[in-house]
Amino acid sequence: MIVVADIPALHESLLPLPRPLCLVPTMGALHAGHLALIHAARQHVGPHGTVAVSIFVNPIQFDRKDDLERYPRPLELDLAACRAAGADLVFTPDPTLMYASDHSVTISENRLSSTLCGAARPGHFTGVCTVVMKLFLLFRADSAVFGKKDFQQLAIIRRMVRDLNVPVEIIGHATIREPDGLAMSSRNVRLSAVHRAEAPSIYRALCTAAALLNMGERSAKPIIAMAQSHLIALSSFRIDYLALVDAETLEEVPLIHKPAILAVAGFYADVRLIDHIDLRPVS
Ligand code: AMP
Repeated sequence: MIVVADIPALHESLLPLPRPLCLVPTMGALHAGHLALIHAARQHVGPHGTVAVSIFVNPIQFDRKDDLERYPRPLELDLAACRAAGADLVFTPDPTLMYASDHSVTISENRLSSTLCGAARPGHFTGVCTVVMKLFLLFRADSAVFGKKDFQQLAIIRRMVRDLNVPVEIIGHATIREPDGLAMSSRNVRLSAVHRAEAPSIYRALCTAAALLNMGERSAKPIIAMAQSHLIALSSFRIDYLALVDAETLEEVPLIHKPAILAVAGFYADVRLIDHIDLRPVS
């Protein structure tokens, strides 16, 4: 496995590597969710293609300085995990290499970004789109894998690729969860023991609410109310948003007649967690 930290070395290392190339962009602190993406990338390109991983804590997508500073960065463990998962190349740039001190060009998506995490975290998705586009160009990626856990991010990247004719195939991968149901996240390690023990209840609340749909409920209000009653019963979870949105437009819907998503974001102390559940109406 090749590890490169600067851009000329990346270009040189990519030259002899076989195509197609599938990229897995990450911010490191890798867990089984990221590794599932790397395996999916391998599946996609086959044994003779190239699987590339980027590990870069992208400063311009953080709306809070303390979150950026406290983001875990266990680089040696991450490299060992990438090697074990079968990655061919890992790119670990320093922020100063990715952004000139006077950088002034960004990519903004202006519709899907206006709700949910976009509304709660100003500038976040502009930071995401900008770094993802830079990585696509740096790697000349043929395809890239993203987790459905960050479904808004995935929808925005698909929109960017569509609207700017970016020649990269986008692959979405299912959310990987801990055995107790908590969605895996690099931020989970920052939860206190008490909060970690309670956090699986977030997904349980979403599942309980989603069960109403299977019992014939089509109206958003009682489904949201059910999730909310479970979430506010948690001792220390502070809800940032709880919304039922169309799976494609991400707009809030009063009635579920096509695929929708029940999404939640919130805090345990200063640790922000997100999760969601797909709501598929049965006809
Ligand atoms: P991050 O390192 O948090 O920026 O995530 C890098 C990629 O891994 C993104 O495409 C995420 O959606 C994906 N990812 C993070 N957590 C999970 C998970 N639990 N299951 C599946 N994919 C995930």
